Amino acid sequence: MTIEAYYRPETLEEALDLSAEYRSSLDIISGGTIAMPAINEGKTFPARVMDIRDLDLDFVESSNGERTLGATLTLTGVLEKIDEPFLRDAARHTGGWSIRNMGTVGGNLFSPPPLGDFAVALLALDAEIEVQQRDEQRWISLSEFYAGPKSTAIEADELVTAVRLPPIDGDTTYTKYTRSQEPARAIVTVAVNLERQDGVVETVRIALNGAGPHPVRMHEAEDILEGERLERDAIERAAEAAAEGADPPEDAIASAWYRRKMIRHHLSNALCELRNQEETK
Ligand SMILES: Cc1cc2nc3c(=O)[nH]c(=O)nc-3n(C[C@H](O)[C@H](O)[C@H](O)COP(=O)(O)OP(=O)(O)OC[C@H]3O[C@@H](n4cnc5c(N)ncnc54)[C@H](O)[C@@H]3O)c2cc1C
Repeated sequence: MTIEAYYRPETLEEALDLSAEYRSSLDIISGGTIAMPAINEGKTFPARVMDIRDLDLDFVESSNGERTLGATLTLTGVLEKIDEPFLRDAARHTGGWSIRNMGTVGGNLFSPPPLGDFAVALLALDAEIEVQQRDEQRWISLSEFYAGPKSTAIEADELVTAVRLPPIDGDTTYTKYTRSQEPARAIVTVAVNLERQDGVVETVRIALNGAGPHPVRMHEAEDILEGERLERDAIERAAEAAAEGADPPEDAIASAWYRRKMIRHHLSNALCELRNQEETK
């Protein structure tokens, strides 16, 4: 089946009308770095495609430490417009420069595993996403968005229009582990945001890529760390819990068994790095 129609709306209203009319027969193209290869290789056969690049959703807004990123902001746009090191790290590790020039923040949320190297950082920061349909607008947490395997909590007639990030408190660390020199797919990506009071962990968010069907939070590991100092025993127990709780994908670069091993190793390293950050303050 060939594509019957290509739409490039210039207003959000027009885009939402098209989404409402054609629902799942309309494929969304933001940067197109996932959608276009899938169409060209015959993996998907959408009857219609809608390019959302002209909707003026490539903005970055900041207010009282909170940042809002438009859904079609490219990863290169993140590097050009944002000076926050954790977000820059995540953007820099997402694909090569040509992918970053086209690939968008919104599109990264929909990446199949083990992709989603920017989304995993957003999850560690407890981001919310703005979802719009013709007559409704809502904000949902990114955790809620990742409702289940290969599914997201949005309907066929809805568009993601923005990502909102709370002020970044505490310490952060981001590690992408690959088999070869980047650009390369992740074996595992670890993103952590941790707040301490007098050396005791108050809140921690651990998000992993390559540990499930999409970026996932490791709640059991977080529970182990909260109320503890970042000492070897707590770190090892948390890393072990994350490895055990993970459901890693298998692909040509890593088996699930190997990913599990690397989750334990790289999460443990990441937590040690956070401990060292505190000691050197
Ligand atoms: C060679 C190569 C290397 C890559 N390397 C990496 C990597 O290292 N790390 C990584 O994380 N990713 C990587 N990717 C995947 C991809 O490039 C990125 O995830 C990118 O951010 C996807 O964004 P996009 O705008 O191109 O998505 P698109 O292809 O435009 O969109 C993908 C799908 O998401 C949905 N969608 C997109 N935007 C919206 C929206 N606003 N509302 C509703 N639905 C929407 C649609 O269903 C769409 O079909 C790579 C891809 C390629 C081809």
